[in-house]
Amino acid sequence: NETIKTIKLKNIIIKIIIGDITIEKTDAIVNAANSTLQHGGGVAKIISDKGNLQKESDQYIKEKGKIRTGEVGVTSAGDLPSKYVIHAVGPIWYGGSKDEAEYLYMAIFNSLKRAEELQLNSIAFPAISAGIFGYPIEKAVKQYKKAVDNFDNQNPEHIKEIKWIIYDKKFIDHFLKEF
Ligand code: ADP
Repeated sequence: NETIKTIKLKNIIIKIIIGDITIEKTDAIVNAANSTLQHGGGVAKIISDKGNLQKESDQYIKEKGKIRTGEVGVTSAGDLPSKYVIHAVGPIWYGGSKDEAEYLYMAIFNSLKRAEELQLNSIAFPAISAGIFGYPIEKAVKQYKKAVDNFDNQNPEHIKEIKWIIYDKKFIDHFLKEF
């Protein structure tokens, strides 16, 4: 994976990286999950297949129930090189009238909050909601940035590094423009 930009905020360093999130060595990677953790396609299938995580995900849902949009659930990282997978449920894009921006913001912010509660130092995100869920990337990056800024402003003790992993090269300019 290749880091193309590093940005220093008050407490946190942001890295914009091109590549594959499953090979990132970081305390947690975030999965673009659905509410039942059925990792059937997109980045979720890649994370689940490589990490061998479907069984543990099914067990999670059985014990704790579905994850609502904007919320997160945590499993181990299975066979992946990180410690945890934080499964964030981003919104499906319906055109912008169904509070999609607020839900996307929450999905990112709640992932960061959970990582901080787990006392982790680093976390990597894919472009949540901007694949199968259809959220326009130029709009999505604004919510990613807002969530990261607000989290940084809370002066977290543990999280020091947030990585954005870009898989779809068409997204690069949008990330560079917003961050
Ligand atoms: P959603 O349903 O939230 O839209 P998707 O899995 O369809 O989630 O896509 C989220 C983003 O993850 C997409 O931009 C896609 O290009 C990206 N992606 C796919 N595979 C990987 C990977 N191995 N590492 C990082 N990002 C990935």
